[in-house]
Amino acid sequence: MTEHRPPADLPARIRHYIDGAFVDSVDGGSFDVLDPVTNETYVQAAAGKKADIDRAVSAARRAFTEGPWPRMLPRERSRVLHRIADIVESRDARLAELESFDSGLPITQALGQARRAAENFRFFADLIVAQADDAYKVPGKQLNYVNRTPIGVAGLITPWNTPFMLESWKLGPALATGNTVVLKPAEFTPLSASLWAGIFEEAGLPQGVFNLVNGLGEEAGDALVKHPDVPLISFTGESSTGQLIFGNAAPHLKGLSMELGGKSPAIVFADADLDTAIDATIFGVFSLNGERCTAGSRILVQREVYDEFVERYAAQASRVRVGLPSDPDTEVGALVHPDHYAKVMSYVEIGRAEGRLVAGGGRPDGLDDGNFVEPTVFADVPPDARIFQEEIFGPVVAITPFDTDEEALALANGTKYGLAAYVWTTDLRRAHTFAQSIEAGMVWLNSNNVRDLRTPFGGVKASGLGHEGGYRSIDFYTNQQAVHITLGAPHNPTFGKDAH
Ligand code: NAD
Repeated sequence: MTEHRPPADLPARIRHYIDGAFVDSVDGGSFDVLDPVTNETYVQAAAGKKADIDRAVSAARRAFTEGPWPRMLPRERSRVLHRIADIVESRDARLAELESFDSGLPITQALGQARRAAENFRFFADLIVAQADDAYKVPGKQLNYVNRTPIGVAGLITPWNTPFMLESWKLGPALATGNTVVLKPAEFTPLSASLWAGIFEEAGLPQGVFNLVNGLGEEAGDALVKHPDVPLISFTGESSTGQLIFGNAAPHLKGLSMELGGKSPAIVFADADLDTAIDATIFGVFSLNGERCTAGSRILVQREVYDEFVERYAAQASRVRVGLPSDPDTEVGALVHPDHYAKVMSYVEIGRAEGRLVAGGGRPDGLDDGNFVEPTVFADVPPDARIFQEEIFGPVVAITPFDTDEEALALANGTKYGLAAYVWTTDLRRAHTFAQSIEAGMVWLNSNNVRDLRTPFGGVKASGLGHEGGYRSIDFYTNQQAVHITLGAPHNPTFGKDAH
């Protein structure tokens, strides 16, 4: 087994990055950042408050109104974005090392996320030069076209699961379209976000375009949401935080993009390829430590194959390797923070009374410190159980039997969430019929969670509002001004004509 060691050359302190310089908080405040394997503080991060957000927003505002970035040609911005992607790619191992250490994600999965972050930049770098806007002609009478412009300072608020990748998901389109930004990363995992500053400087992003303020959600995040010079907030996090942000942004009528929580069903019909379905549903909930918004955390299995499925699933889940995040053999690492560990463990206790524990249920042997949880499987979970209804965001899954397609649909749709759904069946008609009735922003048929970046990403019900992905992200981060011009003689009715 690999030994647990902090990565070399960790920063002595994590600071904000405002107007091209690393700075401390105006009031000098900081907070502890913990190593999820030991739960010891390994670094202090500057705790931003309203005064720091004010500084960052005014730098971003200046870069927007006076700087070159919003005025550059798409091709020029695209070059910078490609350089960012190149740098991220060339440092993928270091990024993964830091991310894995800070978040507890297994190193192999953190590496995949670092590469996806590069891909996000590359994708929007390409999209912005290929993009065309609408033009409509009314022959001989009128020409109409869309003039697309960046909006201003975008406030980006991100969670701690796959932090660097999720930041890239917002930074890529916000910057590609010519906005300037203030990023407020999650307080549990500020380490990788601080690397953006160096990457952006090296790639040639002009000063003041990217600003970073660390800090608690209720302080730094709240000040960003309430800042009058920030017309856009792109938020990813819990549904309850999203509700709060909605209310706080309302007096300012801000543009909001909300990617929220999930309790996504994986529906396994009796005719499914069971081997593949088991592999996929194991990966679907235990990858990224189960700290995954699109985790298939409820598995609905048709009665004919239910017992076999549960038995095989439990056996395979018990073999999933929990270990040090830095170990390349680890499949489930350490949960991000002791508070989150306590939350997940409390659901494991609740689950004991609500379902039948068939795998896991505690701390793995030999991992006595840190936030390690065994992959935990509950079977026979009724739909009114809390572990069926509530997002646990850890390596815990609920399995429930069903008899008919109608029953499966009612169970699948029977929570407040609607982010993703996974359907396993070899019946083509059933797969598509089911997909169309399911209340989920994204459905994967006989497929794991593999997403083409051009497709819409987003949830329905309590899982979010708005869509990003491809042109939808471009739409969120730009204004579309419609320009109309008359051809030939103006055809307007004349009021107040001269008397004859
Ligand atoms: P969270 O809501 O606690 O925090 C998210 C971010 O919001 C953090 O940066 C936090 O500091 C900030 N924040 C908290 N309170 C705030 C406030 N009052 N005003 C402004 N900002 C505030 O979520 P989390 O625990 O970091 O992340 C896990 C959640 O994120 C899960 O529910 C998960 O499903 C969701 N998630 C969703 C997606 C998606 O795309 N739908 C992706 C990843 C994670």
